[in-house]
Amino acid sequence: MPEEAKKEKKPYMPPPPPEGKEVLVSVRGVDKIFTKGGETVYALNDINLDIYRGEYVSIMGPSGSGKSTLFNMVGALDRPSKGEVSVGGVSLPSLASSNLSYFRCKHIGYVFQSYNLIPWLTAMGNVMLPLTFLGTPEEEAKARAKHVLELVGLGHRLDHTPGECSGGQQQRIAVARALANDPSIILADEPTANLDQKTGQEIIQLMKDLCVSEGVTVITATHDFKMLKASDRIVWIKGGNVSKVEDVSNLDIRVGGVSESDYNE
Ligand code: ADP
Ligand code: MG
Repeated sequence: MPEEAKKEKKPYMPPPPPEGKEVLVSVRGVDKIFTKGGETVYALNDINLDIYRGEYVSIMGPSGSGKSTLFNMVGALDRPSKGEVSVGGVSLPSLASSNLSYFRCKHIGYVFQSYNLIPWLTAMGNVMLPLTFLGTPEEEAKARAKHVLELVGLGHRLDHTPGECSGGQQQRIAVARALANDPSIILADEPTANLDQKTGQEIIQLMKDLCVSEGVTVITATHDFKMLKASDRIVWIKGGNVSKVEDVSNLDIRVGGVSESDYNE
């Protein structure tokens, strides 16, 4: 896009939250600039976004649109070049690195495309890690790990290592690990990308169920259209800009549903 056209397009600005909704994550004026080999990449360009407590939000966009970069900003895995990100009223860019690690472990659970499990630990061992990191006593950590593994339907796989589990089961362990510290947010970056259609659908349903039953806010970055149905709202992102934010009920009434053209509006 030419520089001038870029400047003319007004960035998306969230409306005031609907009655009864509480803003849990607030992103304002966020840029993320990478420089690589002398080239400057605007991965995010003046992003503004509100995410409400307890909702299921999908950040949708094609490859390279900035989904993972935004995920990293919201999840305190990286710092913005400019702008503000706050979670539950806590400003993330102003936290020192040591406080950030604690904040991440206590308040946010992460799920990644490639599961990121420790191969030599059992399901229990993997899920206990974030509990141990926060200093939870061993017996309490064991009981909690068992509980969340049962919640994700793996009560019969507690002592299996990742290598002894299917892809879908490994992603369930990752979801259980994300839930271990009872976080307010689960952030999932392309959680279904390595799974077949059916297993992917099961993981989406699992996260939806947990959103409802545990009241956890689910934020997922994805280009999997299966995610649309489970979502309350869709954030469409393109070229590092939020192009629109829609309630899923609006998608249902759109004739022909969603298509690739939604990426190009
Ligand atoms: P998505 O997750 O939507 O595929 P990303 O957020 O990974 O997109 O990337 C957005 C843009 O930022 C891309 O152009 C990508 O090449 C660039 N980018 C992401 N991370 C880096 C990095 N660490 N260094 C340089 N460029 C990066
Ligand atoms: Mg990505």
